[in-house]
Amino acid sequence: MKGEARRYIILFGAQGSGKGTQARLLQDRFGIPQVATGDLFRDNLKEQTDLGRMAKAYMERGELVPDEVTNAMVQERLSRPDAQAGAILDGYPRNLNQARALDEMLAGWGAQVTQAIYIEVSEAELLRRLTGRRVCRECQATYHVVFNPPQQEAVCDRCGGPLYQRDDDKDEAAIRRRLEIYMQETLPVIDYYRQRGLLSTIDGEASIEEVNRAIVAAIVDRRTP
Ligand code: ADP
Ligand code: AMP
Repeated sequence: MKGEARRYIILFGAQGSGKGTQARLLQDRFGIPQVATGDLFRDNLKEQTDLGRMAKAYMERGELVPDEVTNAMVQERLSRPDAQAGAILDGYPRNLNQARALDEMLAGWGAQVTQAIYIEVSEAELLRRLTGRRVCRECQATYHVVFNPPQQEAVCDRCGGPLYQRDDDKDEAAIRRRLEIYMQETLPVIDYYRQRGLLSTIDGEASIEEVNRAIVAAIVDRRTP
């Protein structure tokens, strides 16, 4: 596929802002896959690969996995056949070094970041969302015990897999550490895309459906000359 036809959309927002929830809706809407670095690391952890073993300690502490490892994992994922028309990036890039690596990677394929969406949510709401989050062990779909419960308790609506609570969501110190790192390392990346005129900011405190409508409108509007 020609570079200019590819669509690479980055979702930004603190942990718990709803990136994963929205990325899944957007992949159905736009026909390009969600590429979530956190999910990729958790898959590796589950499969007990060398990469998973290496990432484990960082993830438990709520710290970033080293950039070279993360960038290589993303490059491999974006090279797969299902991502040839582009991807919805969720949780990557998380610092300026990763943002530059992504630019280089895409330039090598004659492509570029087409849009960045920033989902804004207050800290109090983030804590409510993270502590109630449940994730499918099989397909990584995300639920919330109060705000977005599955039809049958602890069972995934999509694939029937069992739901669980992530270890890093149980540990308040790890939650705070992740939010701190987000403020220090990821906010400058958001500015990087704002300065390039690629950023749309969305109020993330509305319902899942309303947030989705606002994001779809921002994406579609940008494509209209
Ligand atoms: P992120 O991928 O940004 O960490 P998630 O998509 O996993 O965030 O969402 C965090 C939690 O908040 C999940 O439990 C999800 O079901 C819930 N959630 C997501 N969007 C909303 C929303 N608009 N209103 C209420 N709860 C939401
Ligand atoms: P997430 O599911 O996005 O909350 O990510 C869970 C954990 O995976 C993070 O706390 C990090 O340890 C690791 N991780 C996810 N994405 C990245 C990234 N882009 N760079 C480094 N580490 C990451």
